[in-house]
Order: sequence, then C-alpha cells, then structure tokens
Amino acid sequence: MTVTVAEPKIRVPYVIARSGEIVNQHPRFVSKLGGGLRLAYDRPRPNDWAHGVLRVRVRTTREGQPQWRLLNTRRQWECMEKNLCQVCGEVATDPVSGRIPWIMTETAFRDVPGEPGNGYTSAPATCRACIGDALALCPRLHISSAVCTVAYAEPVAVLAEVFQPGPGRRAVHTGEHNVFVRLDDEVLLPRVLATQLIVKVHDLQPAPLLA
Ligand SMILES: [Zn+2]
Repeated sequence: MTVTVAEPKIRVPYVIARSGEIVNQHPRFVSKLGGGLRLAYDRPRPNDWAHGVLRVRVRTTREGQPQWRLLNTRRQWECMEKNLCQVCGEVATDPVSGRIPWIMTETAFRDVPGEPGNGYTSAPATCRACIGDALALCPRLHISSAVCTVAYAEPVAVLAEVFQPGPGRRAVHTGEHNVFVRLDDEVLLPRVLATQLIVKVHDLQPAPLLA
C-alpha cells in the first residue's frame, strides 16, 4: 500500500496578490492645476488616488495563483489605514490591551532616526490569532522576523516607482523601484506610482510570548 502524505496546505494571507488581479495600465503625465505635470490614468477613477498619491491599479477579486512575493496594493493600503490583519483581513488591534500585534521583518522595517521605539514599516499588522500562520510563512519567504506590539500607526510615506515625462508626456520609468517617498514630498509625489503605503509605528515593544 502506498501512503501519500499531502504537503500541509498553506493559507494564503489576505494581503498577498493573485495572478488574476494584475492590471496592465500605464499612467501618463498631465497638466497639474497651478502648473507643472503629474501622473494620471487616461480615465481617472476616484480610488486611483489616496493621500494625494497615484496608486498602481489592481483588481481585488482574489482570483488566480498567489504571488507570494507581491502584495495587492489596494488590500495592503486598506490594512495599513485600518490596522487590519495581513492574514485574515479583520481588525488586528487587541481588544483588551488596545495595542496592535505586529510581526516586524528585517526586509519591511526601518528605524526612525532619533526616535527609539518608533519605526517605519510596509508590512501590515497581524492579529493575535493569525501570528502562528504568519510566522510559518517567514522561513518559506526567507525573511527573519520578530513579534512585537505597537501603540498606534499612522500613514507617512509610500513605496513607489518613479517616472519622468518623455515625448508626448509619456511616463518614462527612471529605473528607481520601491523608493521611499514621504506623503509631504511635493516635489517627488507627482512623479510616482505608489505600490505600498508605509506607516510609522509608535512605541514598538517586543512581545515574544504572543508567538
Ligand atoms: Zn488575523
């Protein structure tokens, strides 16, 4: 008798992009009120923009194969703005302590100079119930991580692709990927296409017992 042992089924986190959600649409430069140029899509939609930044267009159907190294921009954004869990998509804030459980990974975290306990991250929170599932994915994605809690988080920047105007106002990629652009950077913001929202987390504390 042959016994087949199935590989444990990996839960696909809420925030992960799917192959059926990719949209191939490119913005171009248009005139900006008050002078200058900014990026826009030909037929603008209200949710193209958030915090004054043009976002990459994606579907939110959750159809297709998981793209394990790619986050769905709209769902990532939603998680960051509402403190939702990156795995289940529900509110991550602990109802008892009021603190937000957060798995910080080396690749998605950086210190705020001169502000110990605060940091910038592009990875959303993880609710207490989903921490085990999220940690199980870290070695698979070859990233190291630490379980923490934070007091609160606020949007401060984006990760973005940078463009410059070409012939006919075509958007020409400068070759700069995943550039950290602050939401108050009025010079660079009109030239970027954001893929992820970055929050500043406050009062970051280790919480290894949650793991
Ligand atoms: Zn969760």
